[in-house]
Amino acid sequence: MKKIGIMGGTFDPIHVGHLMIAEAVWDEYKLEKVLFIPSANPPHKHDVMTSARHRFNMTLLATCSNPHFEVSSIEMDRTGPSYTIDTIKALKKIYGDDTDFYFIIGADCIHELPSWHKIDELLKICKFIATKRPSYKLDLSIIAKEFSDYNIQLLETPELEISSTDIRQRIKKGYSIQYITTEQVQQYIRKEELYL
Ligand code: ATP
Ligand code: MG
Repeated sequence: MKKIGIMGGTFDPIHVGHLMIAEAVWDEYKLEKVLFIPSANPPHKHDVMTSARHRFNMTLLATCSNPHFEVSSIEMDRTGPSYTIDTIKALKKIYGDDTDFYFIIGADCIHELPSWHKIDELLKICKFIATKRPSYKLDLSIIAKEFSDYNIQLLETPELEISSTDIRQRIKKGYSIQYITTEQVQQYIRKEELYL
């Protein structure tokens, strides 16, 4: 069986928190690669976002130096809401039945999982790897109870108090975002005058 990680997100912008958990899951589960999939129309996000093109470009810049990271435009190429079930089904067609998918998800999104589109079907065709995130307490026993029938595993990783929201606010206030995201992403944000 081939094993491929899926790192979904709005990546507005991508930061080292995303990169670190993707690398940790890749390492622990001996994945072939991790596909970063910028969401086009996330059903759970209602804020105005930076254009898909910019978010895709930044994700590419942040990941291109890592040979086992890849960026996929699969959700940006579709119209309508970006449902993960549709993405995984499309990937299964591309990669064939001998591939297992590992969807990487941060602690803040876990409680939303039961409301995801066709979640029961999704959990049958895709594993979920949950990672901790500061300020979002993950009580392992509650999660284990609530998701006992679900295909979810928890992975301990270092915890970084970093978010795209914080990056956007820092830029607006004129603060540095050095070391929170990569040098190339910082340059891109400056060149395109994003988040001002
Ligand atoms: P925003 O503040 O705009 O919501 P974000 O930093 O939460 O941005 P997203 O693109 O929303 O980033 O998140 C994509 C995925 O990465 C989600 O599963 C989220 O839980 C996870 N994630 C983001 N930042 C971290 C972090 N610092 N530690 C662990 N997981 C994270
Ligand atoms: Mg988020």
